[in-house]
Parts: sequence; C-alpha cells; structure tokens
Amino acid sequence: MLILHPFVYGVRPDDQAHCWEALTEAEGAGFKIEHLELSAADPFQYSREIRQRWQKDDLLIVEHDVAPSVELLVAMANCEHPLCTRLYDGQAPVVGVTHLGCTKIALSVQEALPCPALPSVQYTNLDVTITEFCSYWTRDYWHCHTEPLVHYHERPPWQKDDAWHAVGHQGAAR
Ligand SMILES: [Zn+2]
Repeated sequence: MLILHPFVYGVRPDDQAHCWEALTEAEGAGFKIEHLELSAADPFQYSREIRQRWQKDDLLIVEHDVAPSVELLVAMANCEHPLCTRLYDGQAPVVGVTHLGCTKIALSVQEALPCPALPSVQYTNLDVTITEFCSYWTRDYWHCHTEPLVHYHERPPWQKDDAWHAVGHQGAAR
C-alpha cells in the first residue's frame, strides 16, 4: 500500500503541519509514504499524478489538511473493503460521493478500471469524479471508517454552524 500525500506548498502551513506530523508517525509505524507537491498553477496536475499511479498499488490518499491517526490508517489498510473513506466529522454519509481527504482505493478496484477511463479533470472536481467513478463501475459502496481523524480545512462562516453539518453539503448551496 502506498500512502499518497498531495500538498500545495504554502497553503495554510499551520494546518498542514498537523498532516506532516501524522504522516511522520505513520512512517514510523511502517507505512510507505510519498509526499507529492502539487502546483496551484496547474489544476490538472492532481488528476495526472493519480493516473500515473493507477494500477500499481493499493492507494491511500491523505490530503494536506487532514491528520489521520495511525489507528485509522491501520484499520483502512487492513480492511477487506476495496473502497474506504473517513467522512469528516459532521458530514452526512453520501453513497457514491465523497472526498479524497482520507480515502483508500484498493488495487483490485484499479485493476478492474482501465487507466484511460480515469477522467482527467481539474482538482476542484477530482474528488467527486473519482469517487463516483469507482463506485459506479464497481457497483460498490464506500465503506466509512470512524477511527480518529482531524480535518483542518477552513470553511466559510456560513458553513460552520451545526445546521449545515447536520444536512451535509447540500446545505451549502442554500
Ligand atoms: Zn474499510
């Protein structure tokens, strides 16, 4: 299994520090980690990098603003489900649609899906595109883990109240 850590240098460095700390701990626990710097000036790079790593190894993506516990990473790595995610606290489960913040895509799923079929999209749409793509083609659900993970992503004030969390992302459009 490869833990892929995409990050954009300089974006909310205080938040990213938590991710680096968590991954240093994971590395100490024996995980193989690749730190992947993305350029904010190249919106297609994230998609391209995933395409290049497709069908090579179990892939566990940890984006730069989350701090997963080793407990969570071990649970996801050992999980029998091929598609695993850790929903952010307060996020309502949505079948087939999730984020890439902390997400496992097993090699078996990648092998079932030909690389050219993986859409090349901008990073803003990449998470939903890939997660829908995987669940659509495998006819499988995303298995949701509950072990500890902290998400440091800043939301606009109107998205921070509990009411928004209670209804999930749909509430953000209102
Ligand atoms: Zn799982």
